[in-house]
Amino acid sequence: MESREKILSRWLEDAREKVLYLQDIHIGIPTSEIEILEETLREAEDYLKSDRKSMALNRWKSFNGLFTEIENRCFSTLTPRQIDQISRSDQRPKTLEYAKYVFEDFDEIKGFDANSPDPAIVCGFARLERNDVMVIGHEKGRFTEHYRRGGSALPQGNLKAMRAMKLAEKFGVPVVTFVDTPGSWPLEEFLPAQQIAKNLQAQYLLKVPHVSVVIGEGGSGGALAIDVSDFRIMLDKAYYSVISVSGGAAIIASDKRHVTEEDLDRAALNLKITAHDALRLKIVDLVLQEPKIGVRRSDREFYTLVRDAIIEGLNIVKQRVYPFFLPHPKIENTWKLKRHQVRILLRKRIKRYGRIGTYHTSFMDKFKFVLGELYRIRWIHSIFAPLRVSLETIRKIKAKEEKSLLGAEEQPEALSFEDRWVECPNTSLHGCQDIWVPTLFEEYNGACPHCGYHFRLVIDHYINLLSDTGTFREFGKGIESINPLRFEGFTEKLKEAKRTTKRKCAMITGYALIDRQPAILILTDVRFRAGTLGSAEGEKFCRAVKRAMREKKPIVAVHQSGGARIEEGLLALMQMAKTSSALARFKQAGGYYISVNTDPTMAGVLASYASLGDFVLAEPNAQIGFAGIHVIEQTVKQKKPKNYQHAEMVMGRGGVDLVVSRGELKHTISRLLKLKKMKSTEEIY
Ligand SMILES: [Zn+2]
Repeated sequence: MESREKILSRWLEDAREKVLYLQDIHIGIPTSEIEILEETLREAEDYLKSDRKSMALNRWKSFNGLFTEIENRCFSTLTPRQIDQISRSDQRPKTLEYAKYVFEDFDEIKGFDANSPDPAIVCGFARLERNDVMVIGHEKGRFTEHYRRGGSALPQGNLKAMRAMKLAEKFGVPVVTFVDTPGSWPLEEFLPAQQIAKNLQAQYLLKVPHVSVVIGEGGSGGALAIDVSDFRIMLDKAYYSVISVSGGAAIIASDKRHVTEEDLDRAALNLKITAHDALRLKIVDLVLQEPKIGVRRSDREFYTLVRDAIIEGLNIVKQRVYPFFLPHPKIENTWKLKRHQVRILLRKRIKRYGRIGTYHTSFMDKFKFVLGELYRIRWIHSIFAPLRVSLETIRKIKAKEEKSLLGAEEQPEALSFEDRWVECPNTSLHGCQDIWVPTLFEEYNGACPHCGYHFRLVIDHYINLLSDTGTFREFGKGIESINPLRFEGFTEKLKEAKRTTKRKCAMITGYALIDRQPAILILTDVRFRAGTLGSAEGEKFCRAVKRAMREKKPIVAVHQSGGARIEEGLLALMQMAKTSSALARFKQAGGYYISVNTDPTMAGVLASYASLGDFVLAEPNAQIGFAGIHVIEQTVKQKKPKNYQHAEMVMGRGGVDLVVSRGELKHTISRLLKLKKMKSTEEIY
């Protein structure tokens, strides 16, 4: 039996940790109160040292009284900003602790080969009841473990996670991931965005159940890289967001140089980062209640809660694919799936992510979409396919007749070019001459005739540039961007974007002939809210992919985008998973996808569909990157050269297959399209 002294000193140790915790989380507890706590604790420790146990006990009791008072006052209703602060605490349990206390026999796999040593991601096999599971997670370690970069994974780390998932798949073992990262490490040298895109695609194809637990920070694409799961659990003092609160604050701040505390509070509130928000948006399946002040490493009972939640999650996933499943703790490997169950699992997974998003759609679009879905049912397909073929032929003949009648003015909205001169940015370097704007865009496709510098081209021009005259036929026009999270001030900005661009969202989808070869064109307009990816864009993209799959046409996509749409929060982040899984399925069915990255192709878009092309082309000097250059410089504390994110540099790193000048673009794409005729889509599912 423990002596009284030992028990008391253990209590005091815990109290000491609690004080450190309050100092660590910065949620606005008055310093004077923390000082009183500290003082009381010090007295108790002194009494214990001088062997006056009853006095020590007395002080400990008054410490507890004070602490409970603070707990009730400051922790009863926490603001999103406070939750954001708590989620970063050093005292929260990290992945390795969960791996040790939630599971039995956790064996860490340190690295698979020279390409994947990254201590920010840990993985290994463990036992859960009588089952093997693969545990993967971001590991922040203690604050002294700098080599883990606070859980910011390198692309190598994400590759390691992917390999671990593949290994789990080989043995039919379910995957449990723990998400706790402020975001991926943004150094462009090893292509972080491209690796995230690969992870998103691979996770859709994972043939075993996948349950994830968001235990602390759910930072954007870095989190999603291991979190395209079938069942998502989130602790109630963790956050999940498309951008860090400070990043969001910089966007909504009235004075961009001085972000105030108020801006930070507003950003946290507007971004809807808490677990309960995520539950309302149906992105999280289960929220786990933590102790009032937040879970700390020493809260051993909490691990049991997490364990039960994971087991429940895995049971639910199995029940989704096999409704007669009865969980039984004595049976070995109960979550193993049979072949046909795997097929259902993948179908459910794509549906799960396909549903995410809030947008408006017109009646005609809804009607056409339902028709399209019906057409996928095999017997309807076999009845209507001949009819469709003949309709298509009639349309082709008609299009041929119309072609001769169509004038240039009936092409999609032509641009009115200003009557002025521009200076090439390379003038000082190459001595280029000033160019008259109409000549620049009409004769030179927007490239400097002397040095080949590519000016940014408005997206409508790409339609003319790529498709044969008069063959572009738009569809999905009715899908419209809205402000689903009621983000402050966004409704007006959206209205303005719709008015100036005369579009309902940033994406344009349509049929086109490219050198007489049919294809589906997907274009993003950078003028519409920086071409960002939101719910409407994600949905439009996925519908175009579905259409391409149904009609066995290749996809050519031209990207001009700043990334995921901050104002749509988690909904926008999840569009990365949605578009990537739609593409994964398309490619699995033999689909052919060519991606053209123009200026700019950034962040969330680059970390999903822009990098998943069978061929990834880019325009000269286009900016292609994972994060803004200032963010990178601040995070890695290094100065980067001006051309750090230029297409040519990215090609040098292997992120782009070919840099093609605008004049050559159509020819190159047409050449690539000739390489492959689509296979039948019938063999899948
Ligand atoms: Zn020039």
